[in-house]
Amino acid sequence: MATLKDFRNNVKPNWCPGCGDFSVQASIQRAAANVGLEPENLAIVSGIGCSGRISGYINCYGFHGVHGRSLPIAQGLKMANRELTVIASGGDGDGFAIGMGHTVHAIRRNIDMTYIVMDNQIYGLTKGQTSPRSAEGFKTKSTPQGSIESALSPIEMALASGATFVAQSFSSNLKQLTAVIEAGLQHKGFSFINVFSPCVTFNKINTYDWFKENVVDLEEIPDYDPTNRVMAMTKLMETNGMLTGIIYQDKTKKSYEDLVYGFKEEGLAKQNIQLTEAEFEKL
Ligand code: SF4
Ligand code: MG
Repeated sequence: MATLKDFRNNVKPNWCPGCGDFSVQASIQRAAANVGLEPENLAIVSGIGCSGRISGYINCYGFHGVHGRSLPIAQGLKMANRELTVIASGGDGDGFAIGMGHTVHAIRRNIDMTYIVMDNQIYGLTKGQTSPRSAEGFKTKSTPQGSIESALSPIEMALASGATFVAQSFSSNLKQLTAVIEAGLQHKGFSFINVFSPCVTFNKINTYDWFKENVVDLEEIPDYDPTNRVMAMTKLMETNGMLTGIIYQDKTKKSYEDLVYGFKEEGLAKQNIQLTEAEFEKL
Protein backbone atom coordinates (compact mmCIF):
# COMPACT_ATOMS: atom_id res chain seq x y z
CA MET A 1 0.00 0.00 0.00
CA ALA A 2 1.33 3.42 -0.97
CA THR A 3 2.49 5.84 1.72
CA LEU A 4 3.05 9.59 1.69
CA LYS A 5 6.57 9.28 0.29
CA ASP A 6 5.28 7.35 -2.74
CA PHE A 7 3.44 10.51 -3.84
CA ARG A 8 6.63 12.61 -3.63
CA ASN A 9 8.91 13.08 -6.65
CA ASN A 10 12.30 14.73 -6.99
CA VAL A 11 11.07 17.87 -8.74
CA LYS A 12 11.80 20.96 -6.65
CA PRO A 13 8.88 23.43 -6.75
CA ASN A 14 9.82 26.88 -7.99
CA TRP A 15 7.14 28.60 -5.91
CA CYS A 16 8.36 31.51 -3.75
CA PRO A 17 9.33 30.48 -0.22
CA GLY A 18 6.20 30.69 1.94
CA CYS A 19 3.70 30.39 -0.96
CA GLY A 20 0.45 28.80 0.23
CA ASP A 21 0.56 26.28 -2.63
CA PHE A 22 3.21 24.20 -0.79
CA SER A 23 0.58 23.23 1.79
CA VAL A 24 -1.89 22.26 -0.90
CA GLN A 25 0.72 20.01 -2.51
CA ALA A 26 1.54 18.39 0.86
CA SER A 27 -2.15 17.94 1.74
CA ILE A 28 -2.97 16.28 -1.59
CA GLN A 29 -0.05 13.86 -1.06
CA ARG A 30 -1.16 13.08 2.49
CA ALA A 31 -4.83 12.73 1.57
CA ALA A 32 -4.04 10.44 -1.38
CA ALA A 33 -2.05 8.12 0.90
CA ASN A 34 -4.64 8.28 3.68
CA VAL A 35 -7.52 7.20 1.42
CA GLY A 36 -5.46 4.28 0.08
CA LEU A 37 -4.70 5.48 -3.45
CA GLU A 38 -1.71 4.26 -5.46
CA PRO A 39 0.20 6.81 -7.60
CA GLU A 40 -0.77 4.93 -10.78
CA ASN A 41 -4.48 5.35 -9.94
CA LEU A 42 -4.32 9.13 -9.52
CA ALA A 43 -4.22 11.86 -12.19
CA ILE A 44 -3.86 15.57 -11.53
CA VAL A 45 -4.77 18.04 -14.25
CA SER A 46 -3.90 21.70 -13.78
CA GLY A 47 -4.47 25.02 -15.50
CA ILE A 48 -2.12 27.97 -15.95
CA GLY A 49 -0.78 30.07 -13.10
CA CYS A 50 1.68 29.51 -10.26
CA SER A 51 -0.70 26.88 -8.87
CA GLY A 52 -0.79 25.12 -12.26
CA ARG A 53 2.67 23.75 -11.63
CA ILE A 54 1.28 21.42 -8.96
CA SER A 55 0.60 18.63 -11.46
CA GLY A 56 4.38 18.23 -11.91
CA TYR A 57 5.17 18.18 -8.19
CA ILE A 58 3.25 15.07 -7.15
CA ASN A 59 4.21 11.54 -8.11
CA CYS A 60 1.19 10.38 -10.15
CA TYR A 61 -0.12 11.04 -13.66
CA GLY A 62 -0.01 14.77 -14.39
CA PHE A 63 -1.30 17.01 -17.17
CA HIS A 64 -0.46 20.72 -17.20
CA GLY A 65 -3.17 22.00 -19.50
CA VAL A 66 -4.06 25.40 -20.88
CA HIS A 67 -5.46 28.45 -19.14
CA GLY A 68 -8.88 27.82 -17.61
CA ARG A 69 -9.25 24.40 -19.23
CA SER A 70 -8.24 21.94 -16.52
CA LEU A 71 -11.86 20.91 -16.02
CA PRO A 72 -12.72 19.81 -19.59
CA ILE A 73 -9.53 17.75 -19.71
CA ALA A 74 -10.12 16.25 -16.26
CA GLN A 75 -13.75 15.39 -16.98
CA GLY A 76 -12.79 13.70 -20.26
CA LEU A 77 -10.14 11.71 -18.45
CA LYS A 78 -12.60 10.49 -15.85
CA MET A 79 -15.25 9.54 -18.42
CA ALA A 80 -12.64 7.62 -20.44
CA ASN A 81 -11.27 5.76 -17.42
CA ARG A 82 -13.66 5.53 -14.51
CA GLU A 83 -11.13 3.55 -12.46
CA LEU A 84 -8.89 6.62 -12.21
CA THR A 85 -9.14 9.12 -9.33
CA VAL A 86 -9.02 12.54 -10.96
CA ILE A 87 -8.11 15.89 -9.41
CA ALA A 88 -8.38 19.17 -11.33
CA SER A 89 -6.57 22.16 -9.89
CA GLY A 90 -5.73 25.77 -10.59
CA GLY A 91 -5.92 29.29 -9.25
CA ASP A 92 -8.75 31.76 -8.74
CA GLY A 93 -7.90 33.57 -11.98
CA ASP A 94 -7.78 30.29 -13.91
CA GLY A 95 -11.02 28.88 -12.51
CA PHE A 96 -13.16 31.96 -11.86
CA ALA A 97 -12.25 34.20 -14.83
CA ILE A 98 -11.32 32.49 -18.12
CA GLY A 99 -12.43 29.07 -16.83
CA MET A 100 -15.66 30.08 -15.09
CA GLY A 101 -17.95 28.67 -17.79
CA HIS A 102 -16.38 25.25 -17.27
CA THR A 103 -16.47 25.57 -13.48
CA VAL A 104 -20.21 26.18 -13.23
CA HIS A 105 -21.13 23.39 -15.65
CA ALA A 106 -18.67 20.87 -14.17
CA ILE A 107 -20.21 21.52 -10.76
CA ARG A 108 -23.79 20.94 -11.95
CA ARG A 109 -22.75 17.95 -14.10
CA ASN A 110 -21.47 16.13 -11.00
CA ILE A 111 -18.82 13.82 -12.48
CA ASP A 112 -17.02 11.91 -9.70
CA MET A 113 -13.81 13.96 -9.35
CA THR A 114 -12.28 16.67 -7.15
CA TYR A 115 -11.56 20.29 -8.08
CA ILE A 116 -9.11 22.19 -5.86
CA VAL A 117 -8.76 25.94 -6.33
CA MET A 118 -5.74 27.71 -4.85
CA ASP A 119 -7.32 31.07 -4.12
CA ASN A 120 -4.83 33.87 -3.43
CA GLN A 121 -7.14 36.69 -4.59
CA ILE A 122 -4.65 37.88 -7.23
CA TYR A 123 -2.88 36.83 -10.45
CA GLY A 124 0.53 35.75 -9.11
CA LEU A 125 2.32 34.29 -12.14
CA THR A 126 1.90 37.50 -14.16
CA LYS A 127 3.25 39.52 -11.21
CA GLY A 128 0.17 40.82 -9.44
CA GLN A 129 -3.03 41.91 -11.17
CA THR A 130 -6.59 42.05 -9.79
CA SER A 131 -8.43 38.70 -10.06
CA PRO A 132 -12.17 37.91 -9.77
CA ARG A 133 -11.50 37.22 -6.07
CA SER A 134 -9.82 40.55 -5.30
CA ALA A 135 -11.79 42.76 -2.91
CA GLU A 136 -13.29 46.12 -3.84
CA GLY A 137 -10.67 48.82 -3.45
CA PHE A 138 -7.79 46.32 -3.99
CA LYS A 139 -4.88 48.16 -5.62
CA THR A 140 -2.66 46.43 -8.17
CA LYS A 141 -0.88 47.40 -11.38
CA SER A 142 -4.13 46.73 -13.26
CA THR A 143 -6.25 48.72 -10.75
CA PRO A 144 -3.95 51.50 -9.47
CA GLN A 145 -6.89 53.42 -7.98
CA GLY A 146 -8.44 50.31 -6.42
CA SER A 147 -10.77 47.71 -7.92
CA ILE A 148 -14.32 48.98 -8.47
CA GLU A 149 -15.73 45.47 -9.05
CA SER A 150 -17.26 43.20 -6.41
CA ALA A 151 -15.31 40.08 -5.46
CA LEU A 152 -16.80 36.75 -6.49
CA SER A 153 -17.95 34.44 -3.69
CA PRO A 154 -16.84 30.97 -4.90
CA ILE A 155 -18.69 28.97 -2.28
CA GLU A 156 -21.99 30.74 -2.90
CA MET A 157 -21.41 30.24 -6.64
CA ALA A 158 -20.81 26.51 -6.12
CA LEU A 159 -23.92 26.09 -3.96
CA ALA A 160 -26.04 28.00 -6.45
CA SER A 161 -24.68 25.82 -9.27
CA GLY A 162 -25.99 22.63 -7.65
CA ALA A 163 -22.80 21.32 -6.05
CA THR A 164 -22.98 18.05 -4.13
CA PHE A 165 -19.75 18.67 -2.16
CA VAL A 166 -18.47 22.11 -1.18
CA ALA A 167 -15.58 22.77 1.18
CA GLN A 168 -13.21 25.59 1.96
CA SER A 169 -9.92 25.56 3.83
CA PHE A 170 -6.74 27.52 4.47
CA SER A 171 -3.09 26.70 3.70
CA SER A 172 -2.10 27.32 7.32
CA ASN A 173 -4.46 24.64 8.61
CA LEU A 174 -2.87 21.46 7.22
CA LYS A 175 -5.00 19.19 9.39
CA GLN A 176 -8.29 20.63 8.13
CA LEU A 177 -7.03 20.96 4.56
CA THR A 178 -5.96 17.31 4.43
CA ALA A 179 -9.26 16.21 5.98
CA VAL A 180 -11.40 18.12 3.46
CA ILE A 181 -9.34 16.79 0.51
CA GLU A 182 -9.75 13.25 1.86
CA ALA A 183 -13.50 13.77 2.16
CA GLY A 184 -13.57 15.26 -1.35
CA LEU A 185 -11.72 12.28 -2.81
CA GLN A 186 -14.15 9.91 -1.11
CA HIS A 187 -17.30 11.80 -2.16
CA LYS A 188 -19.16 10.08 -5.02
CA GLY A 189 -19.66 13.10 -7.26
CA PHE A 190 -18.01 16.45 -8.03
CA SER A 191 -16.15 17.86 -5.03
CA PHE A 192 -15.44 21.58 -5.06
CA ILE A 193 -12.72 22.75 -2.64
CA ASN A 194 -11.63 26.38 -2.40
CA VAL A 195 -8.36 26.90 -0.52
CA PHE A 196 -7.18 30.26 0.80
CA SER A 197 -3.58 29.98 -0.38
CA PRO A 198 -1.70 33.26 0.21
CA CYS A 199 0.58 34.81 -2.43
CA VAL A 200 3.32 36.15 -0.19
CA THR A 201 5.04 38.04 -3.00
CA PHE A 202 2.28 40.11 -4.60
CA ASN A 203 -0.70 40.16 -2.22
CA LYS A 204 0.29 42.18 0.84
CA ILE A 205 -3.33 42.56 2.03
CA ASN A 206 -4.67 38.98 2.18
CA THR A 207 -1.73 37.61 4.13
CA TYR A 208 -1.50 34.58 6.44
CA ASP A 209 -2.22 36.89 9.39
CA TRP A 210 -5.20 38.43 7.62
CA PHE A 211 -6.70 35.00 6.93
CA LYS A 212 -6.00 33.82 10.50
CA GLU A 213 -8.00 36.79 11.80
CA ASN A 214 -10.86 36.37 9.35
CA VAL A 215 -11.55 32.66 8.74
CA VAL A 216 -14.37 31.02 10.68
CA ASP A 217 -14.02 27.29 11.35
CA LEU A 218 -17.34 25.47 11.00
CA GLU A 219 -16.52 23.62 14.20
CA GLU A 220 -17.11 26.92 16.02
CA ILE A 221 -20.73 27.02 14.81
CA PRO A 222 -23.03 25.00 17.09
CA ASP A 223 -25.50 22.61 15.41
CA TYR A 224 -24.17 23.30 11.90
CA ASP A 225 -25.76 20.83 9.48
CA PRO A 226 -23.71 20.31 6.26
CA THR A 227 -26.68 18.66 4.54
CA ASN A 228 -28.72 21.87 4.82
CA ARG A 229 -28.10 24.10 1.78
CA VAL A 230 -30.11 27.02 3.16
CA MET A 231 -28.09 26.95 6.38
CA ALA A 232 -24.87 26.82 4.34
CA MET A 233 -25.89 29.92 2.33
CA THR A 234 -27.01 31.79 5.44
CA LYS A 235 -23.82 31.10 7.43
CA LEU A 236 -21.68 31.98 4.42
CA MET A 237 -23.37 35.35 4.10
CA GLU A 238 -23.08 35.95 7.84
CA THR A 239 -19.32 35.25 7.72
CA ASN A 240 -18.60 37.16 4.49
CA GLY A 241 -17.73 33.87 2.73
CA MET A 242 -14.94 33.04 5.21
CA LEU A 243 -16.32 29.70 6.50
CA THR A 244 -13.88 26.79 6.45
CA GLY A 245 -14.59 23.07 6.67
CA ILE A 246 -17.08 20.88 4.80
CA ILE A 247 -19.79 23.42 4.13
CA TYR A 248 -22.24 21.26 2.17
CA GLN A 249 -22.53 17.63 1.11
CA ASP A 250 -25.33 15.76 -0.62
CA LYS A 251 -24.67 12.03 -0.60
CA THR A 252 -27.98 11.13 -2.21
CA LYS A 253 -27.46 12.44 -5.74
CA LYS A 254 -25.99 10.02 -8.28
CA SER A 255 -22.86 11.01 -10.17
CA TYR A 256 -23.03 11.80 -13.90
CA GLU A 257 -21.29 8.58 -14.89
CA ASP A 258 -23.49 6.47 -12.61
CA LEU A 259 -26.52 7.92 -14.39
CA VAL A 260 -24.99 7.46 -17.88
CA TYR A 261 -23.91 3.87 -17.30
CA GLY A 262 -27.04 3.05 -15.28
CA PHE A 263 -29.12 4.32 -18.19
CA LYS A 264 -27.21 2.02 -20.58
CA GLU A 265 -27.72 -0.98 -18.29
CA GLU A 266 -31.42 -0.26 -17.99
CA GLY A 267 -31.80 0.01 -21.78
CA LEU A 268 -29.99 -3.28 -22.40
CA ALA A 269 -32.02 -5.08 -19.73
CA LYS A 270 -35.26 -3.85 -21.28
CA GLN A 271 -34.21 -5.33 -24.61
CA ASN A 272 -32.88 -8.50 -23.00
CA ILE A 273 -29.39 -7.91 -24.43
CA GLN A 274 -26.43 -9.39 -22.60
CA LEU A 275 -22.95 -7.99 -23.26
CA THR A 276 -19.49 -8.77 -21.95
CA GLU A 277 -17.81 -6.05 -19.89
CA ALA A 278 -15.58 -5.11 -22.86
CA GLU A 279 -18.55 -4.83 -25.21
CA PHE A 280 -20.42 -2.73 -22.64
CA GLU A 281 -17.49 -0.32 -22.29
CA LYS A 282 -17.48 0.22 -26.08
CA LEU A 283 -21.09 1.44 -26.09
FE1 SF4 B 1 3.13 31.74 -4.83
FE2 SF4 B 1 2.69 34.32 -5.32
FE3 SF4 B 1 5.14 33.33 -5.58
FE4 SF4 B 1 3.24 32.66 -7.32
S1 SF4 B 1 4.10 34.71 -7.01
S2 SF4 B 1 4.72 31.26 -6.34
S3 SF4 B 1 1.40 32.59 -5.99
S4 SF4 B 1 3.94 33.47 -3.67
MG1 MG C 1 -4.63 33.64 -8.16
